[in-house]
Amino acid sequence: MKILVLNCGSSSLKYQLIDMDNESVMAKGLCERIGIEGSKLTHKANGKELVVEEPMPKHTEAIALVMKALVDPEYGVIKDTSEISAVGHRVLHGGIKFTESIKVNKDVKATIRECFALGPLHNPANLMGIEACEETMPGVPNVAVFDTTFGMSMPEKAYLYAIPHEYYEKYSIRRYGFHGTSHMFVSGEAIKFAGLDPEKGRVIVCHLGNGASISASIGGKCVDTSMGLTPLEGLIMGTRSGDLDPAILQFICNKEGKDVNEMLNILNKKSGILGMSGGVSSDFRDVEKAAEQGNHLAEVALEAFVYRVAKYIGAYTAAMNGVDAIAFTAGVGENDKIRRKAICDYLGYLGVEIDDEANDCRGQLRMISTENSKVKVMILPTNEELAIARETLRLVQ
Ligand code: ADP
Repeated sequence: MKILVLNCGSSSLKYQLIDMDNESVMAKGLCERIGIEGSKLTHKANGKELVVEEPMPKHTEAIALVMKALVDPEYGVIKDTSEISAVGHRVLHGGIKFTESIKVNKDVKATIRECFALGPLHNPANLMGIEACEETMPGVPNVAVFDTTFGMSMPEKAYLYAIPHEYYEKYSIRRYGFHGTSHMFVSGEAIKFAGLDPEKGRVIVCHLGNGASISASIGGKCVDTSMGLTPLEGLIMGTRSGDLDPAILQFICNKEGKDVNEMLNILNKKSGILGMSGGVSSDFRDVEKAAEQGNHLAEVALEAFVYRVAKYIGAYTAAMNGVDAIAFTAGVGENDKIRRKAICDYLGYLGVEIDDEANDCRGQLRMISTENSKVKVMILPTNEELAIARETLRLVQ
């Protein structure tokens, strides 16, 4: 069975066609600048690349071009689009209604629309992608896989904020957690790779990329996660502050004559290692280079990033009364041996022991702890597209 996986942004669309018989990627690509001048499709299959520059006023035209590329005699991988059995969509926010992925119908679309306020940048684009597929491929089932459903298994003590309860009742203000598809995939694979009890295995997943989050799960079910109502909470990220004292907002607003929207923009786009390093970069490689050249703020930014991850691992170990495995994933987690080692250096009290030789690698599924380590530590490359395809298959079979 062939499943198309779509991740739609407001002006972009990423896709993969996956053959679920062997979980291999047949083709993948990206449509950029949808709705603006200079729309472009880049399609990759069989080691070849096709670039199409044609107007894409809406996601419908983008999907039509993707279909054309998939059946193209030279660059295509299928004879007819009827070979696509289902489409899996990454949808950012499912609110409190969706605790699982779901086959799309009218009610599901209405709920995705109701959640526009919770995911203002992503949910409208995700819905456009679903409607474009309904138009272009009538009769083919669409499945919505939400970034928030992994967090829906958290207990109340973990997801409720200590603010007046009326705000949860009125506006569903709670911790949702994001990168859910990645945390679900990595925690499930970590249990298998480490040979843990599928029901009781306690796993901490460190998804460390430009956006960064950490989760604690037992038997693959989330018990806590660091992102909150929005992706701003938790770890220090490329440009996001993560946790801070909310009174800082009022203080800076008063001192600098800013309003809360400007402050949120600063906390989302100008903070994190970019802000802490004094503006060097949001990219860990650039900040590391600056630190090596003696830039003190760059060095502190990297130390603070590592320190925050280590503190969360401590907190989540307490939440689960122990931890059996820790998995590193995403850009920094998969590639940055220095950050992995520095985080694990805080974890001696847990009996974590890293094998430096095993840790000296990038982007590979690999155990990096020693035989004697009390906690299994691994690099586990995330694969959100495959996770979405698996969920889609499960729901349409
Ligand atoms: P996102 O998907 O959130 O945009 P990624 O998971 O792609 O982010 O991670 C991007 C980050 O990974 C960048 O900050 C980049 O510097 C970092 N990264 C990638 N490769 C390396 C590496 N070899 N060493 C250190 N950091 C790396």
